[in-house]
Order: sequence, then structure tokens, then C-alpha cells
Amino acid sequence: MTKKICILGSTGSIGVQTIYVAKKLGIKVVGLSAHKNVDLLIKQARELSPDILCIVDEKYYPLLKENFPDKIVVTGQQGLINIATYPHADLIVNALVGISGLVPTVEAILAGKRVALANKETLVTGGKIIKRIISQKQEKDSLPILIPVDSEHSAIFQCLVGEDKKNVKKIILTASGGPFRGKKFEELQSVKLEDVLMHPTWNMGKKITVDSATLINKGFEVIEAMFFFDKGCDDIEVLIHPQSIVHSMVEFVDGSVKAQLSYPDMRLPIEYALTFPERGKAVAAPLDLAKVKNLTFEEPDFDTFFLLKIAYDCAKEGESYPIVLNAANEEAVKYFLEGKIGFVDIMKYVAKIIEGHRLQKIETVEDILVIDAEARRRFKNLVEGEKS
Ligand code: NDP
Ligand code: MG
Repeated sequence: MTKKICILGSTGSIGVQTIYVAKKLGIKVVGLSAHKNVDLLIKQARELSPDILCIVDEKYYPLLKENFPDKIVVTGQQGLINIATYPHADLIVNALVGISGLVPTVEAILAGKRVALANKETLVTGGKIIKRIISQKQEKDSLPILIPVDSEHSAIFQCLVGEDKKNVKKIILTASGGPFRGKKFEELQSVKLEDVLMHPTWNMGKKITVDSATLINKGFEVIEAMFFFDKGCDDIEVLIHPQSIVHSMVEFVDGSVKAQLSYPDMRLPIEYALTFPERGKAVAAPLDLAKVKNLTFEEPDFDTFFLLKIAYDCAKEGESYPIVLNAANEEAVKYFLEGKIGFVDIMKYVAKIIEGHRLQKIETVEDILVIDAEARRRFKNLVEGEKS
């Protein structure tokens, strides 16, 4: 079992829950990173006494170093890479948000690390490259290099244990439907930030909470599943399941369907990623289906939540399309959280950026970063151009 981990993004929702699980399992946390939240990072470091600490924003480096003069203290993008490749860790938990997770994942794999991946933007933007690197690195019969943390992908991963991939017919990704399930597009015009942030079943970081409200999060998960499980997007279906008890399903060629169920609690997929191929007991909460009573399922509304449809189109096109989708969405969510655009503008602007994009092939991580930067520039021009 894993004994020592580094956590990239330890101050976020997944990061904090990973610390909880690691402590319960007796796993030593040897590295931590934050972007700006130096106060929480200092608190975590006092409690866990890791070997290495990273604060990405250089402004806070002196304060961190002053508090921990005897530890390795790093900063900036290189600092994240130092955490991702720290020689004394057996596993790196990537709980960063956005494309900031891409390079650390790549560097961790190149350094021979196993990665528990929560950061879905890594595979949305870099799936093609990561798959290539893994195929060069993965030894037959050894534990997988990448292990999913996202609850749906953890569910599918668990359903596939002991199965031959060639017998998988279809993957069914469940989605809660978010806070606006059942609403029509016109009804979304007036929603406020606080409505968007009220997710019905999960308590998560702000970015993914907004993504869950537009349903682009599920589109990203379709792309993530393509790379994790070697399937085309036509073999991945989205099903709305408001109770968030069935975390996803796999249909096999004989018509049999396997599912993984639990209460919605991210600590469970985190624990599974840390203990695989064993199972831990750190967060065990027996599921009482008699109390849950109803498990319901319905088709997604692709007309209202059209970013889900656009994500499927981008998944089909591949190459630069998912990168541009991610970049435009990251910018749109940022503008929305800053109060500069409305909720439906996220959907409209992302759609416009995709409409104006022409496919570019990608071969390297550098290609991805260039396409990402260009898409962000186009987004800024579009929004600020329309405003002036
Ligand atoms: P949060 O926003 O709560 O946390 C993000 C973490 O990354 C924080 O530690 C933050 O530091 C750090 N960070 C943010 N921006 C940067 C940057 N540019 N460079 C380096 N570090 C950065 O996110 P979540 O924990 O909600 O999500 C993390 C990932 O996991 C996302 O990809 C999300 O989609 C995925 N995920 C999350 C789930 C959840 O339940 N939260 C469920 C399934 C997947 P600081 O605190 O200093 O800002
Ligand atoms: Mg998920």
C-alpha cells in the first residue's frame, strides 16, 4: 500500500479531504502545495510536518520560508514540479484545478511516479500526450500509473476490476444534473452566483461547482473517461441521476450492467485511489438503500445544457478542440466568479469560441500550452470587445 504521498493543491476541497483520509490510513504526507492560501498551508504543514512545501505565488514565499526554515520550500511552476517529482513519495495526488495540473502530471509520470488524478483538466487537455507517455512507461502487470479520483471514474475503475476491457460495451456516466436540473434556458437568465454555488449533492471547489451547473463538467468527464478507459465518446453515455448514489456504470457485451454505489462523499474515491488494489476503512459509511428509497434516472437536456453537447462534439474532433473548450470555460468561469459576466454568458461565450475554432494537431505539451494561451486571448477579446 501507499506509504508516502505528496498533495498538489492541498488547500482545496479535494486536498483537504485527502489529508483527512491519509491521516486515517496512517499514510505520511511528505509534500504539500498551495497557490495563494499560505495561512492554511502553514497550518497543514505544522500539523503534518512534510519534507517539502510549495507556494506557487512567489509573493508568499518569504513568509513560508520564515515559518519553516528547516524544510525544503519551493515556489512558482518549478515548485509544483518539485512536489510532483519528489523522490521520497510513492504516489502524487493531483488536486490542482484547471490546466495548472497538466505539466505537474506529465512531470510526475516522467519521473516514474504513480498519480492519483482528481484534476480532470489534465486529461481533457493532455489526454493524447499522457496516453503516449504512459504507454512508454507502463510495465505489464504493475499497478496503473494513473488512478482516478473523480467519483464517476473511480466507479468505472472499480466496476472493471477483474474484467476484460474487450467485453465492455458502454460506459454510463451518472450526473446529478446540478442545481438547475429541469429548468429551461430562459429560466437560467436570472440566476445568481449564490444559486449556482448551491450544488444539490456535492460540496466542492467553486470552479467545478460552476461547471456542474452548466453540465460542462460532465462533458469534461466524458473526455476524461475516453482516456482512462480507452473508449470513443459514442460508447460513453450520460445519465442524470439526481440522488448521486450510483456513481457510474459499465454495460458489458452480454447486456449485464455493473454499478458502484455509495453516499456522495469524495473521501471514498480518494481512499480507493490511495489503497488500491486493497480497500481501506477510513470513511466507511454503510449505504442504507431502504432509507434512500428512490434511485431515479433521466436523460440529460442537451438543448438547455448545450455545453454538454458541445463537449461531445469537441471530444469527437479531438486534438485542439478539448483544449480550447477547457481554456474558454476556465476564462468564462473566472469572469463569472468575478461578477463580470452572467451565468448564461458562460455558455454563450464558450460556444462562440468553439464555433470560431479550427482544428490544430497537437504533438507536445508545448503545443497544448500555446493553444490554451491563444484561446484565452480570443476569449478576452470577444468578451471585452462586446462590452466596449
Ligand atoms: P479547489 O478550488 O477547492 O482547490 C484547488 C487547489 O489548487 C487549491 O489548493 C489551490 O490553491 C490550488 N490552485 C488553484 N489554482 C492554482 C494554480 N494556478 N496553480 C497551482 N495551484 C493552484 O478545487 P477542487 O478541490 O474542488 O478540485 C480540484 C480538482 O479536482 C479539479 O480539477 C476538479 O475538477 C476535480 N474534482 C473535484 C471534486 C470535488 O469534490 N471538489 C470532485 C471531482 C473532481 P489555493 O487554495 O491557494 O488557491
Ligand atoms: Mg465527477
